[in-house]
Amino acid sequence: MVGRDKPEEPVATSHGLSKSRVCSGLQCHKKLWWEVHDEDLPERDAATEFILNQGREVGELARNHAPGGVLIDFPHDAYLERVRATRAALRHGTRRIYEASFLAEGVFCSIDILEREGPRFTAVEVKSSTKVKPEHIGDVAVQVHVARRAGVNVTRAEVMHLNRACTHPDLSDLFVREDVSPRVEAFLLDLPPELAAQFAMLAGPLPEVAIGRHCFAPRDCPFLERCWAEAPEHHVTSLYGIRSDAAWALAGDGHETILDLPPSVRLSAVAARQVRAVRSDALIVERGLGAALAKLDAPLAYLDFETVGPAVPVWPGCHPYTAVPVQFSCHVQDRRGGVAHRSWLAEGPGDPRPALAAALVAACRGAKSVLMYTRYERARIRDLADAVPALADALRDLDGRLVDLAAVVRSHVYHPDFGGSFSIKDVLPALVPELSYGGLAINDGRWASAELYRLLLKGDSMTPEERATLRADLLEYCKMDTWAMVKLLERLRELAGNGGARG
Ligand code: SF4
Repeated sequence: MVGRDKPEEPVATSHGLSKSRVCSGLQCHKKLWWEVHDEDLPERDAATEFILNQGREVGELARNHAPGGVLIDFPHDAYLERVRATRAALRHGTRRIYEASFLAEGVFCSIDILEREGPRFTAVEVKSSTKVKPEHIGDVAVQVHVARRAGVNVTRAEVMHLNRACTHPDLSDLFVREDVSPRVEAFLLDLPPELAAQFAMLAGPLPEVAIGRHCFAPRDCPFLERCWAEAPEHHVTSLYGIRSDAAWALAGDGHETILDLPPSVRLSAVAARQVRAVRSDALIVERGLGAALAKLDAPLAYLDFETVGPAVPVWPGCHPYTAVPVQFSCHVQDRRGGVAHRSWLAEGPGDPRPALAAALVAACRGAKSVLMYTRYERARIRDLADAVPALADALRDLDGRLVDLAAVVRSHVYHPDFGGSFSIKDVLPALVPELSYGGLAINDGRWASAELYRLLLKGDSMTPEERATLRADLLEYCKMDTWAMVKLLERLRELAGNGGARG
């Protein structure tokens, strides 16, 4: 599964294509060509690997919610054995088959759950998303097409996805099954010519495909670095707040970069500042920055959470993908004007929220303004207030002291290197170039979240040494997030001409 979809099934076989490869080609033929022909493919990052594993677990769990089936259980690349075993199960009249596998017209696919009712079959595709997404339809359509061509009378297609309303500890309604047959039938009308086009394309040289919206939909292409290296700097898609379709319409009309936007484009204040910065190739600082910083009330604290959001909820009151804070870093101004560091990281699979909330309230005690970067921390603190009623008042008080430093930057500062993003990972190199995440063992929030999940919920499979190393790496990463805010605020004060609160 890519994104929140299913793990990738056997890829292009000596027989031809797999379902995953066909779906890749639906996104972009050039992407498919590279995946089939290029031996030097980009490696999957840890966060993507985590999503794949989580998807696999969801797929296996789904079988408990559609029980009593026969699993076609062979190594993933034993294509012919899988197909033969499926045929045998069908001959025996098996009512429900997991991983039913088919090969027809050069395309291999396996169906998560194939159900028989008399002479008719239903193909059920399990997805770890919480809704049916447009890209699921093509995915299911390939399965239905191949199964039909292999002689199976599939008359109904369903997507079985996670139920957003499911609440731990009652997981009896973890899955929802949605009939997608009409959408699949409509898709099937165009599938045979698309398959023919993919086979023809693969028999030739690397196809020419221009960059476009498809590079990011339905998911980020792993070959962005190859194709986007030639894209002009300040591409119009990097204009702050622009919708993807509007950006590509402008690019299609020849306005490829921010430097050549037509006057008719209406810009927000932030986007207008971006355009001025890019055109003048200079950092822009608005006069109001000093006044905004002066509102900060010392002593200050700088707060950052790391969270995990398990697909299958594991703590009371949580739904699929509820983001639960399991770690925080907090730098706090001390009386001498220096900063002290406090941190907390959960241990083991138990509910981390009561202990985290207590440590958080203690860490921020005395700070009058608590800086966060984006509003993410505020949302998590409000969730914590619901989850830990004994500390709800203290958490609401903390909520009242939060200040979003990202909003201060967004409203007053733009550097051409921001690239339309106010993420700390984009702002920091431009404003505080001497500070970098580069030397850290973990240097990305998605990666940290995947590792936290592993540490807390799969820690039994690690050695004590591995756990200790991972804990240390995670603590360093989170600490860097708040230290970056400390240094960023120093830089903002310099830019404001020494305005703002003082410790
Ligand atoms: S980056 Fe875009 S054009 Fe290049 S292979 Fe990926 S989807 Fe195709």
